[in-house]
Amino acid sequence: MRRILIGVCLTLASLGGALGAPAAAELVFTDGAVYTVDGARSWAEAVGVSGGRIVFVGTGAAAKAWIGPSTKVVDLGGKMLLPAFHDSHVHPISGGMEALECDLHGLATADEVLKAVAAYAAAHPEAKWIRGGGWDLTLFPAGNPSKALLDKVVPDRPVLLDASDGHSAWANSKALALAGITKATPDPPLGRIERDPKTGEPSGALREDAVGLVSKLLPGRTPADYAAGLKKALEIANGYGLTSLQEASASEEELKAYANADAAGTLTARVNASIYVNTEKGVSELPRLKDLRSKYRGKRLRADGVKIFADGVLETRTAAVLEPYIGFGDDRGKANLKPADFQALATALDKEGFQIHIHAIGDRGIRDSLDALEAAEKANGRRDARHHVAHLELIEPPDIPRFRRLGVVANFQPFWANGDQYITELTEPELGPERSRWLYPIASVLAAGGVTAFGSDWSVSSMNPLDGIEVAVTHREPPKGPGPAWLPQEQIALPEAIAGYTIGGAYLDFSEKETGSIEVGKAADLIVLDRNLFEIPPSQIHDAKVLSTLLEGKEVYRAKGY
Ligand SMILES: [Zn+2]
Repeated sequence: MRRILIGVCLTLASLGGALGAPAAAELVFTDGAVYTVDGARSWAEAVGVSGGRIVFVGTGAAAKAWIGPSTKVVDLGGKMLLPAFHDSHVHPISGGMEALECDLHGLATADEVLKAVAAYAAAHPEAKWIRGGGWDLTLFPAGNPSKALLDKVVPDRPVLLDASDGHSAWANSKALALAGITKATPDPPLGRIERDPKTGEPSGALREDAVGLVSKLLPGRTPADYAAGLKKALEIANGYGLTSLQEASASEEELKAYANADAAGTLTARVNASIYVNTEKGVSELPRLKDLRSKYRGKRLRADGVKIFADGVLETRTAAVLEPYIGFGDDRGKANLKPADFQALATALDKEGFQIHIHAIGDRGIRDSLDALEAAEKANGRRDARHHVAHLELIEPPDIPRFRRLGVVANFQPFWANGDQYITELTEPELGPERSRWLYPIASVLAAGGVTAFGSDWSVSSMNPLDGIEVAVTHREPPKGPGPAWLPQEQIALPEAIAGYTIGGAYLDFSEKETGSIEVGKAADLIVLDRNLFEIPPSQIHDAKVLSTLLEGKEVYRAKGY
């Protein structure tokens, strides 16, 4: 009975707007292809916004009641209206700072990279170091560029350039000499100094923690650098329709920059930060993490997450795998944590109410992560924790149903499932065809009832969610056009791909009552797209453009000419 009464009340309340005379909305979109991403994945024609919130969703005829003399009416002319996007794994500030330095993203040949480095060095004669990044591993044999190449273009100053995947860097001779790295220098425990196979001399590429041997010498970045990096990242994010960002590995400097922007009213995205945990320090990190979590909270900023790196990446064999990499003896990569330590750390963090965000790429790293989260649940009891594992490149089939069972969100970067040279030339040969079948098994996780959320890992890959959506659907590199899909078993449908960047991300952020779909009562975080994604060939999704991005009803981006 009680349930029936509540049902009636809700129905009357929701009909109230249509039956009575609603107060006019401040803003009404009409004649749109409104894909709401609500539970029924329903479509609408019109949306009303007042006080930063969605007050009406429905037909064009019903919208008329919400239009008053001072209402701003936007006729969408059939264009698409979507909930604004969530990026569930992104590095805004480091990416933004990188974009302002020697930016090598998207360059197609080693020659172009070297020309860009030379041009940057010439344009910045004052720079004591040439720093930046974004070079593509696949442009160099085995992802292993030499110091000699860099020495040719910058012989006199130290150079350190991060690879686009963030797990390797490339140094010239001057930088290696300043760091004192010689033939005699041992590899750090969680890193590798690439060496000339004949002479044993460091050859220029540094993996994982070995990068730190040189990067510790770089001049410190200033708060102004962080602020500029954030500003740049927010411009890019808003331009791609993003208004919610899951910061994937925050330092205190980064948290400060977010907090300053939040206080100044310039933080044009909701930021949920995962604070970086030093896995070597393990459980002793807790007091610091709790301190940062309570200190950095604001209108649009939370730091309720912690980030644990379980392993490295497959391309350079630093990801932890269950069976050896093919062609490298018994090499199974490296897990950053012993299982017992991982479980103790996850249990302690879970007990303190942190949301655990894990980087795990190899099947062993992923299994260890799920084991750690399972141990936490056993010790502390089940709670609505929404821990998540990001990247999930190679999952052993028995681990696929565990996401659902443990309530762990599968945080994929679907853009990576594009069958590019990273996969065909570096990854698949190391794994063989049988294991490669289980690369990026997004469809399998969904079929097993798991919740997925999607992100870019920018600046590793394009921040544009439309690139990720297209690849999730096509399993092809976006500019290639239609053709056979790489690993077609794991392609997903467009509604699921959009959900991963909207309501899935909102769920991951504990904000599904606030964002992620177009429903009455939610924040008016909305985007206008120049075309309806359901009416174009999937291979053209990346060509679609965001025309306008609204955060709480206020426009934070508008395309030129719109
Ligand atoms: Zn990342």
